[in-house]
Amino acid sequence: MSDVIVEVSDLHKSFGHLEVLKGIDLEVRRGEVVCIIGPSGSGKSTLLRCVNLLEEPNSGKVVVNGFELTDPDVDIDRARRTIGMVFQSFNLFGHLSVLDNLTVAQRKVLKRDKAEAERIALDNLAKVGLSDKAGAMPAQLSGGQQQRVAIARALSMNPAVMLFDEPTSALDPELVGDVLAVMRQLADEGMTMLVVTHEMQFAREVADTVLFMDGGVVVEQGSPNQVIGNPQQQRTRTFLARVL
Ligand code: ADP
Ligand code: MG
Repeated sequence: MSDVIVEVSDLHKSFGHLEVLKGIDLEVRRGEVVCIIGPSGSGKSTLLRCVNLLEEPNSGKVVVNGFELTDPDVDIDRARRTIGMVFQSFNLFGHLSVLDNLTVAQRKVLKRDKAEAERIALDNLAKVGLSDKAGAMPAQLSGGQQQRVAIARALSMNPAVMLFDEPTSALDPELVGDVLAVMRQLADEGMTMLVVTHEMQFAREVADTVLFMDGGVVVEQGSPNQVIGNPQQQRTRTFLARVL
């Protein structure tokens, strides 16, 4: 099997007359952490949504875990199952307990029986430090805890890759660290991750590759030391001067 888990080639996406992605190339290899940084409106979320086929690209190719998502004949449900996604807003089911949030898709989609789904759910709750919250309702949790539940829920589906879209940007500052710590631990364990983030320190310490996007193109990419530490492009420098 190929070591390339996510492959995006010459991806274009427009909304009406607005061209948001203008030919994106991107590769995430097994076990690699790729962080995407860039100003608001540069197309980062749209890119992630095209990788998950929440948006349909206009042209170009997206291959995830061997599934060519841009092939009209692809089994999109099977393909999506291999992708875990964590959004800025936590998207938990408010009427379900934490445990049920983690088991419902395992049972419906993966057809796991109740006992197995619950065992896997509890393993993943332990991993994100929330073993004691299995019986809680989402509204009883802090934003940081809800986001960690969302991560545990995605992990319970055994994804080949985890996509994160600014997972900490809706959180109060004192809650950000716990979520980043969970993500860092996942990275250390070898999870393949594509992360849109404004957390430069995280990108610097955890990413193997950093992409700087602006205006629907990848302006610059390389190691964190290259892109964040020693940017070559003026646009990257201007952005970093604002956020660092
Ligand atoms: P980022 O995540 O980098 O802030 P987005 O991908 O969210 O950027 O948005 C890029 C551009 O695409 C913005 O100008 C945004 O308004 C526009 N856009 C995003 N989604 C839609 C949509 N569903 N319909 C129309 N325009 C959209
Ligand atoms: Mg966004």
